[in-house]
Amino acid sequence: MPHNSTQANGERVLADLNALRAIGTYKTGVHKPTFSEPHARSLEWLAKKLPEAGLSAAVDGIGNVLGTSAKAGPKLLAGSHLESQNYAGWLDGPLGVIYALEAARVLNPDPAVNGAVEVASWCDEEGHFGHFLGSRSYVGAVSEADIDAARDRNSGRTMRQALAQVGLAGRPRLKALRGRYIGYLEAHIEQGETLESGGLKIGVVTSIVGIWQYRITFTGEQNHAGTTRMAIRKDAGLALARFCVAIDETFPAICGPRTVWTTGRIDLDPGAPSIIPGRAEMLFQIRDADSAVIERLEQRLRAMAREATARGPCSVAVERIRTGAPAMMDAAFQDAIEAASAEFAGGKSLRMPSGAGHDAQILATIMPAGMLFVPSIGGISHHWSENTADEDIVTGANVFVETCRRLLMR
Ligand SMILES: [Zn+2]
Repeated sequence: MPHNSTQANGERVLADLNALRAIGTYKTGVHKPTFSEPHARSLEWLAKKLPEAGLSAAVDGIGNVLGTSAKAGPKLLAGSHLESQNYAGWLDGPLGVIYALEAARVLNPDPAVNGAVEVASWCDEEGHFGHFLGSRSYVGAVSEADIDAARDRNSGRTMRQALAQVGLAGRPRLKALRGRYIGYLEAHIEQGETLESGGLKIGVVTSIVGIWQYRITFTGEQNHAGTTRMAIRKDAGLALARFCVAIDETFPAICGPRTVWTTGRIDLDPGAPSIIPGRAEMLFQIRDADSAVIERLEQRLRAMAREATARGPCSVAVERIRTGAPAMMDAAFQDAIEAASAEFAGGKSLRMPSGAGHDAQILATIMPAGMLFVPSIGGISHHWSENTADEDIVTGANVFVETCRRLLMR
């Protein structure tokens, strides 16, 4: 039987999500890049809401919002992010923040509940200025020099300028108090169609993928496209195209069951119709929940580059430019989400890896962490039409609150 005292107030959750959608609306979604005016107003909105849950609010020097409780007993940290991709959806981020707020509102005043839920909104999860700068700052992985170097990928304004414009310059950055939390819980829309197509309501995240990124450079010889005979060309663009095809033929035999790889960008130099490219570059990404799989694929990639260089006529160089370690979600958190789903979602849950990155993978480096997903209509995300049925949002809120209760009451 559901415990009524620990149920979410579905109307209140939907009203709060719509209030955040009304700040920076774009069609049915939002346009809220990090440190834009609507993003700053959303942070203020949250800071004003936190006292409803008995939490004192702080907005720190990198735009993280944290609500802390004076209640005795164990503390569970919960949250997500409030900025959006450009011209994107209304739930990516706010869903997890409002679920955390709701759990705190329901559980913190309840004397029968041991301890409290504390609420966080991590700044710039969407990477306008870097990679997970807010949550990484909180776990102590961002230096002042990193902030000096960070720039808005759209406008080029520096992070220092942006912080000054939203009135956060010079504020201290909040750092995790080691040992304060029993762990971190985050809810998010799935951003895929696994739950919807399976008629399921809750995804119990088992792991968050690692993302490794490479710059692969091809060096040949720039020359005239009309007078240079085919036999003597050193066409770096052609070498790149061959390499792409070779990856796609080689990887399936040695990858894991859910490995994905993508060539997201190709540049030819000089990139003109009448010039044979002397240089070509591709940005290549591999994602998997198992570092060992990615390492195996990287070794193969490097071997392929050596073989291609030896064969000629172009040389190939592989450089790893980003290493995002995969994160395993805590087993006890997975069990709590599954038990809460049995109670509030008719058991329609599925254990699944996350193919997208989330702040939970950063928090997982210093405390046990868990994540749950709710269905995305049509699997659409990072687009203004992103949506989840109201009914599914409310089901997710109930599962989230119940999961928090179970974790605090262990
Ligand atoms: Zn997100």
